[in-house]
Amino acid sequence: MFKISDIMSNTSANKLQDLQHFGEFGGINPSISDSSTYTFLSAKTMIDTFEGNTDGCYLYSRHSSPSNLHLGDALAALEGTEAANVYASGMGAISSVIMQLCDAGDHVVSSRTIYGGTYAFLKNFVKKFAIDTSFVDITSLETVEKSITSRTKMIYCESVSNPLLEVADIKALSELAKKHGIPLVVDNTFAPLSISAAKLGADIVIHSLTKFINGTSDCVAGAVCGTAEFCLSLKDVNNGAGMLFGSTLDSLRAASILKNMRTLTIRIQQHSKNALFLAQKFEAEGFRAVYPGLVSHFGHHIMKEQMNADYGFGGLLTLDLGSLENANAFMELMQAEKLGYLAVSLGFYKTLFSAPGTSTSSEIPLEEQLEMGLSNGLIRFSIGLDHDIERTYRKMQDCLKQLNITPQAQVLV
Ligand SMILES: *Cc1c(COP(=O)(O)O)cnc(C)c1O
Repeated sequence: MFKISDIMSNTSANKLQDLQHFGEFGGINPSISDSSTYTFLSAKTMIDTFEGNTDGCYLYSRHSSPSNLHLGDALAALEGTEAANVYASGMGAISSVIMQLCDAGDHVVSSRTIYGGTYAFLKNFVKKFAIDTSFVDITSLETVEKSITSRTKMIYCESVSNPLLEVADIKALSELAKKHGIPLVVDNTFAPLSISAAKLGADIVIHSLTKFINGTSDCVAGAVCGTAEFCLSLKDVNNGAGMLFGSTLDSLRAASILKNMRTLTIRIQQHSKNALFLAQKFEAEGFRAVYPGLVSHFGHHIMKEQMNADYGFGGLLTLDLGSLENANAFMELMQAEKLGYLAVSLGFYKTLFSAPGTSTSSEIPLEEQLEMGLSNGLIRFSIGLDHDIERTYRKMQDCLKQLNITPQAQVLV
């Protein structure tokens, strides 16, 4: 006897494809839960639910709602974890995880190249609780290990980081974390589908759903994927950070994000295809392009080793035009030529570009930033879903010509 499921590969994309939630009247989309609170037929069940003992019973929507659970199911399928909770923003997810894992006086070892909000939270906000963070070069395992102390409660990093697209060696980091008995927390916002962080050994995987996963840049939302036990602990009515901070996602939004997730596989493939094309073209022309899909990229081999090849190297690339003036002029002209928007964020159908500059990058001394390739002339692109990327490239080339920006112009200061 064999089951049909036995002969199919069990990838994240297949798990996502196989999810089926019927609506209340047999609808092919799950019904949206339009209530903040839920009735009980018996008073006894209400008490049991309060104590977390009654599966499938809803109490109050800050704790859980059917729509949020459906979206959580999809995210758990995406990352291959037992469970996932959803939040009102990526920062809502990140701050909940950090506060759940750390007590006053604890310590975090974090990559020094992380999202600005996460950096500010770890650097400034948690000081209130005497929690301190060592910000380290996450690509140096030796430095990471040296920074771990008896007070360390987690290693924190991003799978692919902002803005230089550093690639974390998740397998190696997870071995290190296990050796020291602490969890590895990975923010996988830049590489959904391309990298299955939990399968590589991350204990907790975080997403800002605001970016690729929702893909329509019409809301902010976040998720935490992990063990059922950890996800439940975040929801604990007495001491769960998720429950008590209250950054709860609205059910209407959860439903719309779930619908957008159905095209995630196709979108990621197109983002990656377009970004690789542009990165290769710009590099061939002599521009300094940074993209994990380029052989010249520092993290290329690690990315290749740990990625799911079907989904490519992701939609983000950077281009260094030598000076902030060049970067600004190019971005304004590209927007005028309808090539995309001068805007932060990522994962939209149209290309988004911004100049992160040396100023946003945190802990790293200016000299080191320049050495790493973080210059003021850097433009970060989130490449869109353009159906004719060759045309896009020609238009970008025209913009550069019009502005007299050549590869020779990018002299590092
Ligand atoms: C945007 C982003 C966040 C924060 O998410 P919000 O939804 O804006 O709160 C966290 N991590 C990364 C890598 C991001 O790009």
